[in-house]
Amino acid sequence: MHRKKFLQLALISPLGLLARPMNWLISNNPFAENADVTYFKKGDAEYELLRKGFNKRIDKYPEIIARCNNEKGVSEAIKLAIKKSLSVAVKSGGHCMEGFSCNNNGMVINLSALNKIEWLDENTIRVGPACTLAMLYDVILPKNKIIPGGSCAGVGIGGLTLGGGYGLLARKFGLTCDSLQSVTMVDGIGNIRTSDNDNELLWACKGGNNGNFGVVTSLTFKLHDAPQTMQSFKFRSFNVNTVFAKAILEKWFAVCGRLPESCFSAFVLNHKTLYILITNAGKHTPQLQQVINELKSVSDKSTNSIRQPLASALKNYYGRQYPLYFKNASAGLYKDFSEISGCIEKAMELVVNTPGMIYQVNTLGGKILNKEFETASSFPHRDCIYFSELQSYWEQPAQEKKLLQRFQQVQEVFINHGIKAQYRNYPDINFKDWKEYYYSKNYVRLQTVKRKFDPDNLFRYEQSLG
Ligand SMILES: Cc1cc2nc3c(=O)[nH]c(=O)nc-3n(C[C@H](O)[C@H](O)[C@H](O)COP(=O)(O)OP(=O)(O)OC[C@H]3O[C@@H](n4cnc5c(N)ncnc54)[C@H](O)[C@@H]3O)c2cc1C
Repeated sequence: MHRKKFLQLALISPLGLLARPMNWLISNNPFAENADVTYFKKGDAEYELLRKGFNKRIDKYPEIIARCNNEKGVSEAIKLAIKKSLSVAVKSGGHCMEGFSCNNNGMVINLSALNKIEWLDENTIRVGPACTLAMLYDVILPKNKIIPGGSCAGVGIGGLTLGGGYGLLARKFGLTCDSLQSVTMVDGIGNIRTSDNDNELLWACKGGNNGNFGVVTSLTFKLHDAPQTMQSFKFRSFNVNTVFAKAILEKWFAVCGRLPESCFSAFVLNHKTLYILITNAGKHTPQLQQVINELKSVSDKSTNSIRQPLASALKNYYGRQYPLYFKNASAGLYKDFSEISGCIEKAMELVVNTPGMIYQVNTLGGKILNKEFETASSFPHRDCIYFSELQSYWEQPAQEKKLLQRFQQVQEVFINHGIKAQYRNYPDINFKDWKEYYYSKNYVRLQTVKRKFDPDNLFRYEQSLG
């Protein structure tokens, strides 16, 4: 639509035959194409592509999508949103599980063009928020450097870091946000800010700024020396019942307490199949071998991978890279098994009897517990050394209703049992007390940051900071 308008304006101007838009000629036209930002509305060919995210379950229609090429473009878009009284959602990698990076009838700031990686020195990089994990690893691993990111290839470093970020190397190096050194951000008035002299802004961006009070346009990270190799160990049990699954989960909690920091582990109950994964990016210690022997003795089948170079080992966990129908959400962060021992059988009963449903618990702990990291970040759940998630996948929209009902039933089992800590990067639209669940004691402090940078609440969605 705006392209047509631009063409009309260009034709009546004496410079109409020039190939590139001349913004000074059309400065009153917000939809004019310029080097900093391009606006899209319903009906534009690219609008459809740009409005969609990774989760096909979510379908939203913003009034304007502003694809920004730089901070100036973001600032201009913000000012347009203010003028038009539109709420603003921010999109980097588009992997938000509840689609909070899109909205209905508002403006979406699309940062897909901000995906570059710039080396500041051999241990520091500045990254655009839409840089995906696969792009990042492809650039830094050949130089034997790493940031502890997540596992899936298409996740954007922007959303991941601003909500915390855990993955296979988090116990060794901390959360993704713990390696963040500074950000540049356009605030809710359109001003360009930096965290260089603002520790409070940096603190808030380490776990508390998923589209809450500004558009982060670049993130500077400290790099770590990458482990050379990674090996994985897998244990499977088939056709399991709830009593068996609970017993193995209890065992898993017990052995995980003895894993070295170089290891990550996940307990995955997928309908009636039970799967345990251990990855190790360090030495193979006798302690680790003992854990492997114990898990082997209670599983139907176990396999070891060969020790692979880290770059290829990480690719094993890249996951599917095209949009899917799914619901995936945090199902509680725990300190130990006792927190769920009284309700887990009920929850597992629902999972075991629902094809397409997965209950997974992942290890945290290790360097995530570092006190300096804790003080420097708004991620509030470091004392919980286990993170659980619930997942459902389907192919046909007709399967959705029943799976979502079951999903909610499992979530209610945990919530009614008093599970409160939840991970903001795995949001659930049905969490009523999400302020406490995601942000805990840091909510009020984050509100102060919000008031400073977004006094008119331009950035708002169902679960944004109030
Ligand atoms: C398949 C899959 C695998 C995943 N694996 C992991 C994993 O291994 N570890 C893990 O910790 N998480 C994982 N996640 C969760 C992931 O961390 C979050 O979904 C994350 O927020 C996605 O970031 P994004 O930029 O891709 O998404 P987006 O949808 O673009 O953004 C997510 C949220 O962050 C906000 N946001 C994004 N960019 C900015 C910005 N520049 N400034 C301000 N706000 C912004 C958005 O408004 C939105 O609220 C996974 C998610 C999926 C779907």
